[in-house]
Amino acid sequence: MKFGGSCLRDASGIRELVSIVSGEKRCITVVSALSGVTDSIVHFISKRFGEKSIRRFVAQLSEKHLELLNTLCSSEISLRYGEEIRQFMRNFERLLYGVLYTGELTERMRALLLSFGERLAARIVAAALEEAGLNSIVFDTDRDGIITDDSFMNANADLKATRHFLGRKLRNALEKRQYPVVTGFFGSNLEGRVTLLGRNGTDYSASIVAYAVSADRLLIWKDVDGFLTADPEIVPSSRLIPEISYEEASELSYFGASVLHPKAVEPAKLGGITISIRNIAHPEKEGTLITSSKSKAKGVVKSVSCMEGLAIVRVYVSGGGFQSGALSNLSGYIGKAGVNIISATTSQTCIAFLIRKEDTEAAVSSLLPLVPGTVDRVERENGVALICIVGQGLGETKGIAARVFNSIYARGINVGMMSAGASLAAYHFTVRERDLKEAVRAAHEVFFG
Ligand code: ASP
Ligand code: MG
Repeated sequence: MKFGGSCLRDASGIRELVSIVSGEKRCITVVSALSGVTDSIVHFISKRFGEKSIRRFVAQLSEKHLELLNTLCSSEISLRYGEEIRQFMRNFERLLYGVLYTGELTERMRALLLSFGERLAARIVAAALEEAGLNSIVFDTDRDGIITDDSFMNANADLKATRHFLGRKLRNALEKRQYPVVTGFFGSNLEGRVTLLGRNGTDYSASIVAYAVSADRLLIWKDVDGFLTADPEIVPSSRLIPEISYEEASELSYFGASVLHPKAVEPAKLGGITISIRNIAHPEKEGTLITSSKSKAKGVVKSVSCMEGLAIVRVYVSGGGFQSGALSNLSGYIGKAGVNIISATTSQTCIAFLIRKEDTEAAVSSLLPLVPGTVDRVERENGVALICIVGQGLGETKGIAARVFNSIYARGINVGMMSAGASLAAYHFTVRERDLKEAVRAAHEVFFG
């Protein structure tokens, strides 16, 4: 079971966690940092700080955690875990002094600093479980073995190695009737250095852990019911989706739905593990099930998701269609600049890349060395939003695109880039940002009334 920051807001959230976990015979709990903690560390290290502000920040963080611990636990347990928390805070403080005195903040150091939120939260949750009479035990996923590559900010797990190291330890603990509490968000590379799994990466951690122990199921506890047919802030009548496939869940997560981290699908899928999204405020509700079942609702649109804050970079190449390797060449330059390409389309004269607005500068400058020569000119278009239509098998079903585009046209909205055919479970297109809400409502209405 994974509990995110939104579940770990206060004592009542953690009591809810305890009541859910203690209802299970065998259960591994994966936790992220308490609500707001990772953000506060990111914020603190992003500005200039001195000795005084280090002391103030560390005192604040300690107090927040110790107070919660004291509220949840009797004195003996609270004393023991309180000492662990203080020890972590001392290390954390020393690291910050290190950054201050050396004037250096490497990615390695950043990853290490950001991992503290999860370490602290895991102690609080373990203490609360112990208070309820469960034999809890903490696993820190650097030392205990989520093994990853060397990408410090956005690592990928080596699932086999992780199964070998962390998986074995967790299975042993379960056999001894212990209740493991596992830190989310980070692992370590082969040298033992802390690596982060990406912001909001605890969903991914939980899926890795589920794979490592060949779990029967993975439950992700959130403050929403599950995947919806559209963003409820745009479409108030949107409905819960009871069941979707792994592929649909991936597409939805990549293209806008913030319910699940996009990388969380893969390990569970490889292990054939059903993911269940549940609402901690309504544990009796079924939420959304993510499974391998494909057939049930073939060709039916499940959801209309969307993303704002995008830009299109158009790269004009003379005879692009005849230049072999043009696409890989250009995307290579953009990729090396650290920019993630969300989508791309090509024509004879131009290749268009859909990227995040804040990446525009980096993407454009990465291509300038090619002008003039391979590239005639580069143009950018801001204020772009994306709409993604998701449903297993819709790539093989007649009339879906026609209906969507008709409804968009009927509202007088222009469609920009389109991409279909890559996945049979999804296609997407762009509109002007100011038209987004209207367009999402139009598309949603086609399928859901
Ligand atoms: N605490 C980390 C973050 O805020 C990981 C997570 O929340 O899943 O990014
Ligand atoms: Mg978080």
